This record gives sequence, structure tokens and C-alpha cells, in this order.
Amino acid sequence: MVEQHTSPRGEALPLDKSVIVIGAGTMGSGIAEVAAAAGHTVYLRDANDAAVERGLGMIRASMDKRVARGKLDSAACEGALKRIRSTLPDGAMAGVGLVIEVIYEDLDAKVAALSALEPHLSPDAIVATNTSSLSVTALAGRLKRPERVIGMHFFNPATVLPLVEVVSGHVTAPEVAKTIFATALAWGKTPVHCRSTPGFIVNRVARPFYGEALRLLQEQVASPATLDAVMRESGGFRMGPCELMDLIGHDVNFAVTRSVYQAFFDDPRYKPSLVQKDLVDAGWLGRKSGRGFFDHRDGASPVVIDELSTDQAPLVVRVEGDLGPARPLVDLLEKVDGIRLKQTAGDGLLRVDGLVLAMTDGRTATERAAALDEAVVLFDLALDYASCGRIAIAAAAQASDADVLKAAGLFGALGKRVSQLEDVPGMLVMRTVAMLVNEGAEAVYQGIASAEGVDAAMRMGVNYPVGPMAWGREIGLATVLRTVRNLGASYGEDRYRGSVWLQREVQAAS
Ligand code: NAD
Repeated sequence: MVEQHTSPRGEALPLDKSVIVIGAGTMGSGIAEVAAAAGHTVYLRDANDAAVERGLGMIRASMDKRVARGKLDSAACEGALKRIRSTLPDGAMAGVGLVIEVIYEDLDAKVAALSALEPHLSPDAIVATNTSSLSVTALAGRLKRPERVIGMHFFNPATVLPLVEVVSGHVTAPEVAKTIFATALAWGKTPVHCRSTPGFIVNRVARPFYGEALRLLQEQVASPATLDAVMRESGGFRMGPCELMDLIGHDVNFAVTRSVYQAFFDDPRYKPSLVQKDLVDAGWLGRKSGRGFFDHRDGASPVVIDELSTDQAPLVVRVEGDLGPARPLVDLLEKVDGIRLKQTAGDGLLRVDGLVLAMTDGRTATERAAALDEAVVLFDLALDYASCGRIAIAAAAQASDADVLKAAGLFGALGKRVSQLEDVPGMLVMRTVAMLVNEGAEAVYQGIASAEGVDAAMRMGVNYPVGPMAWGREIGLATVLRTVRNLGASYGEDRYRGSVWLQREVQAAS
């Protein structure tokens, strides 16, 4: 009979027993520190004795830093350090409630390490893995008590990043998931439940952030520095996709993309990019090798962000209809001295001296100009049009250079820097965000996580300014779906297929 770990009201309680951490490397030492700081006795194990010593050294250095910064008092630090042991005394196994496996990313090695321990564990002990990409179901299936096996996916550095994906395999007992959730909460983390599918939440939903940028580079839409500037200053992301891939390492990022793609049986939504393969083949892995999209070597020239001149402010701007997510532009325009604003009914357009300006909807400017039989310049989505520092625009083939400068002048008058992108479907921020929302919607539709879980994971795990599901609601799910469908119509690829979850939400609201 397995012990149930619940409060008298039936709520799951955090574990209060000892913890074994197997693997004392980067992640294992961080996890051991978190568990010890939360009051557990932690047995830190490694196949290599020197690794345990290194791990203990990393933990002491990390705790000393927190004491120096005033985030931990020295008595608490000493107490936590004393609770971390490198040997497991006879009889201690009975007090172990949780094993966290943190060895290298290989299923056979993980199974071997855990199988050796399993016969000695009490039947109610929980076996957790910190795997980033392996199937929790596959690992559990090769152990004796698969219902007690779960993923506890911390992010690097485990002591700092709050997110823990609590990953249930096919047969993980619900009470095990609840206990691990409660335990992660008690450790000061933000846990999110999800089911074991390739990439879990973060590594799956984040694929379009890299994938769309790589695709746009292949289509020669703008330089890496310009794409990054637009994603940061217009999209509100902490880092642009190119600088982030340079930081992660193209070898690592490419391997994750390939593994998710293969695990989904070659679903084109996750298709890896030739642009990134080329960087890997060249050994341009990013910061760690000195070069990637950017030159990180000492003395490298500063990056250049392409910008248009914005000194041709318009005298009259006509707002025709509701601009939707770009509505805050109207308030900004009202405040500019020297611009006369006229508002009329219409299809959500701005008109400046014979030029139509509109927010992208997934079609190219050229396609929209052909439909309207007028010159069109499109502008990209911004996280917050009122406060953003940069706007990206794209001109139809039917628009002149003078039209481009008129559009740039309008945004310049609102205090924005302006970067021009080549005219491709969905531009950059809109296309990326629409695909992130679509991916999050698929994860919700397939029961991998809740919408709140997807948002928490993306905010806490990869620092997105807003969770994709909440962002989709702000933009309007109908606009998101239209953008994805227009991308699909332009490319004729299954990669850009609208999630049924999105379709249903839009239909239900109409
Ligand atoms: P690491 O190489 O820093 O540490 C792995 C440790 O495991 C080493 O000290 C090694 O000696 C030890 N080890 C290997 N085989 C062992 C065995 N059979 N028994 C006991 N110890 C053994 O690796 P890491 O970066 O800490 O990654 C560990 C796991 O965490 C992997 O599954 C990885 O995918 C996952 N992960 C890593 C990160 C990250 O950013 N590094 C983030 C999240 C998850």
C-alpha cells in the first residue's frame, strides 16, 4: 500500500522527506541547493567523486554570493550546506521520498542509474527526471514502478529561474504529479503541469520564435541585427531571436529543433532551418565559438541596425474605421502638433497623402495593394504601440520610394524609429506571435497544458513579455487565425495551419 501524501482536506502536501540527487553537474548542483535551502536533507550522488566535490564547491560559491547580496542570511546558508551530504548512510534510504535524476541526456544511462537504485527505495518514493527532451513515459516504462515516475524539469540556472515543468508520463499517478507540484511550490518555484510530449511546453511552444526568424533570414527579409531590433523594441522581447540563438549555441538550438521535429514524425511546423545548419556546419556556433549571426570576437565592428529617415512628417492623416490592435496609434496621432487627424468609417486603415497604411494580416503588402488598387505600406504588430521605440514597415511593389518615406515620416512623428523589411507574408512580429499563439493553442487543444500553464511557462521559462495565450486574446484570436491562414495560403505549406482550438474559439465568439 502506497502512502498518500495529502492534507486532511485532500490537498496534496509537499514532500517532507530526504531527497537524492543523482548527477552533480550544472543542473544537479543547482537543484540540490534549492532542495537543501527548502529544508530537505539532500544526498548528492555522481558516478564521478570529483564531480560531487565540484558540485559542492558550486553550491557553496552560489550560496556565498546570495549571502553577500543580502538574499540569504549566513546561518541559513550554513544550515543548508550541512544538509547536503555526499554519502548515503545505512538505513537512510527509508527516509528518502524523492530521487531526482540529473545525469546526461541519454535514456539508457538514465534507466541504468535509476534501475540500480529502485530496489532500495521505499514503495512510496517518487522518481523524478530533469530530462529536457526525453520521453518521461519511455523512461517510466523501463522502471519497476512507472506510476511513481515523473518529469521535474528545472531551467538553467535552477537556483534563479522559477519555472518547473511537472511532466506526467502516460501512467504517472495523479497524486504523484500533485505532490511534486506542491513540493516545487514549497521550494519557491512556479510549477506548471504538463503531459510528456516532445519539448514539453517551453521547448515546443518556443519553436516559432526561432523558426520564423530563421525562415525570414532565408527569405532575405532583413539583417539579423535589424530583425533583433524589431523583436526587442517593437515586440517587447528581452532578446531578439538571432542574439538569443547565438547565446544558446546554434549546435544546441539546432539539436533541440531536430529532436522535436523527429519526435513529431517530421511535422513541418517544427522543420529545422538550412540557415542554422549552415552555421553549425561552419562551426559558427555563436558566443562560445566567437561567431554566429554576430561577431563576438574582441575588436569586432558594432552591429548596424537598418533604419529609414523619418523626417517627412505628414500634415493630414485619415483614420478609416477601427485599427484593432493598432488603435493606440490614434491617441498618439491626436497629440502630435502639426498633424491634422480626420476620422471616418472604413476598413481599419490609415491614409496619408494617397498612400494606404495598414497593419499586417498575414498577406503581403503587394497582395493588398493589388486588392485595393492603391499603393500600400504595411506596419508590423507591436506589443504596445504607445510605448514601443521602433516600428517595422513593408512596402508593396506598387508603392514608390516616396511612399515609403511618407510612411516612415508618420511613425517618426510619433517618436518611433522605423526599419523596413522586405515584403513577405505576415512581416516579423505578427508572424512570430501568431505562430506562438497557434502553437500554444495546439498544446491546449491536445491537453498538454492549460492556457494558464502555457502562459506561465513562457513568461517564467523564457521571459516572454506576455504569455502567448493572453497575447492572442489582446490581438484578437480572429486576427491571429486570419494571419496564420493567410501565411498558409501564401506558402501553401502545412506548417501554417490554424489550430482547431483557435477556430472553435473564433467561431464561438462570432
Ligand atoms: P552535466 O554534464 O553538467 O552533469 C551531469 C552529471 O551527471 C556529471 O557530473 C556526470 O559525472 C554525472 N553522471 C553521468 N552519468 C552518471 C551516472 N550513471 N550516475 C551518476 N552520475 C552520473 O549535465 P547538466 O547540464 O547538469 O544536464 C543534466 C540533465 O539536465 C540532462 O538531462 C539535461 O538535458 C537536463 N537539463 C539541462 C539543462 C541545462 O541548461 N544544462 C537545463 C534543463 C535540463
